[in-house]
Amino acid sequence: MKKTIAVIPGDGIGPEIIAEARKVLEKVAAKYGHTFVYDEVIAGGCAIDQFGTSLPKEMLEKCLASDSVLLGAVGGPKWDGVAKEIRPEAALLGIRSALGLYSNLRPARLFPQLADASPLKPSIVAQGIDLMMVRELIGGVYFGEKRTVTLENGERRASDEMVYSEHEIERVARVAFETARKRRKKVTSIDKANVLDSSRLWRAVVHRVAEEYPDVECSDMLVDNTAMQLVKNPSQFDVVVTENMFGDILSDEASMITGSIGMIPSSSLGEGTRGMYEPIHGSAPDIAGQNLANPIGTILSAAMMLKYSFDMPEEAERIEQAVSDTLDAGFRTADCMSEGMTRLSCS
Ligand code: NAD
Repeated sequence: MKKTIAVIPGDGIGPEIIAEARKVLEKVAAKYGHTFVYDEVIAGGCAIDQFGTSLPKEMLEKCLASDSVLLGAVGGPKWDGVAKEIRPEAALLGIRSALGLYSNLRPARLFPQLADASPLKPSIVAQGIDLMMVRELIGGVYFGEKRTVTLENGERRASDEMVYSEHEIERVARVAFETARKRRKKVTSIDKANVLDSSRLWRAVVHRVAEEYPDVECSDMLVDNTAMQLVKNPSQFDVVVTENMFGDILSDEASMITGSIGMIPSSSLGEGTRGMYEPIHGSAPDIAGQNLANPIGTILSAAMMLKYSFDMPEEAERIEQAVSDTLDAGFRTADCMSEGMTRLSCS
């Protein structure tokens, strides 16, 4: 099979981890007789330096013309002061929006070999951690109207609107229930319905969709309680579905309890098969260029791309197995290092 992949190395550790994922994809291509064509996309801070904007039109067009997008990470302190419209992160929002990628799947699974790397007590880790966070990706407060006004007394006031329409909630809820059907058949919907109108609508729509899935258990949890339950009893969760900002925050927490943020992949999909795949971490400018980056989240993102966008489940499983075998063999990157293990790096 021939597939075109728009590859965005981006900034910071992005180029280092993308290079490793490409090596893995090339092994898969050789073994299974596939051809992966890589179309390099310059987006993020490096695009601001080169073109004056984080997502030049011709770069977005490359993404739209591809079979899927594989991203390292964008951003860094160098671009903290640029106008908000051209910030590195605006490139991601632009791609997600242009490709209509409304559901973001972020698996948080503890590899048993990395139990030591989890900050949780061994008695909690022993229960196992294997959850799938389904985050709404192109709505909510990140996409609502933003305003900063100066009042008559000279004080500035800023606001960000959190908006959801029924269809936006319904389609991501359906992704969560379909995902749960292929797992342990349990959905926990996260909101702040005791305070927010948008959360009350979220809850009502999720309940309506749940009626179509009587085989899947559905419950609600407030976001503040969820932040607590994730560290107290993470094994209770199977599929967690939530809005954009809550999902952004909770998925970082979920990643940390599994050992390292560098381990967690993600997929972003809309109606078709074309998606965007990326590790959930950022560009880690503090460790860029020092051979300290963990590329596993990016490698597992490439595996998700093969599974969800290219219909290559066997190839994806081979990558996942190879990651597990590498950990079994005692190899670790710096972020997961423990006594007696052999250290690996990207180069
Ligand atoms: P970060 O995820 O980049 O880093 C947080 C911590 O985790 C750092 O200590 C870093 O060294 C470590 N870390 C992250 N990935 C790692 C890996 N693969 N291996 C080993 N250690 C890893 O978050 P941050 O520091 O808050 O953000 C840095 C920049 O990244 C900011 O400009 C931010 O806006 C951007 N960002 C980009 C994305 C994205 O591209 N999708 C997501 C989040 C943040």
